[in-house]
Amino acid sequence: MKLTLPALPYAPDALEPHMSADTFSFHHGKHHNAYVVKGNELLADAGIDADSLEALVVEAAKVGGALFNNVGQCFNHEFFWNSMSPNGGGAPSGEIAARIDADFGSFDNFKKEFVNGGVTQFGSGWVWLVLENGKLKIAKTANAESPLTAGATPILVCDVWEHAYYLDFQNRRPDFLTSFVENLANWDFANSNLTKA
Ligand code: MN
Repeated sequence: MKLTLPALPYAPDALEPHMSADTFSFHHGKHHNAYVVKGNELLADAGIDADSLEALVVEAAKVGGALFNNVGQCFNHEFFWNSMSPNGGGAPSGEIAARIDADFGSFDNFKKEFVNGGVTQFGSGWVWLVLENGKLKIAKTANAESPLTAGATPILVCDVWEHAYYLDFQNRRPDFLTSFVENLANWDFANSNLTKA
């Protein structure tokens, strides 16, 4: 299969003022696109195939190196765009709300742990809400890594590479993460991922 750059699920200015159209023009139009282009170059000679992007990540992880980094970043970024919504943020509803209360004690505690996970991911990476062995937890991954290769189901993600927040928040990663939870988190997407787990 070939990698493709998916259209954003909203207009590039739809998340302003929390995430700017300028950020999307670089982050989606240049960074994500570069992973697609480079990933396809490397896939052409890799001799691996899969019938979904998730399955391709698992195959690429067996090869590692630049192939995995580019394929992994394609999955991670597509999942990140879908993890945000113009109507997102704040306390969730539905099954994810009940599970967050059960597994984190409260939404406020979840928020604290998610933000702390992103703040303490040293260098480039991702902070995830995952379902593992029937329980929600926070997971941190470095660079292009994801829960897909660790046997956990991704539910929601925030990109903590500097390119994700530097134009809007400069060095203030904690403020970016707090804004993600308060203003952008797409709980409908999280609920839909629970049903796939
Ligand atoms: Mn990124």
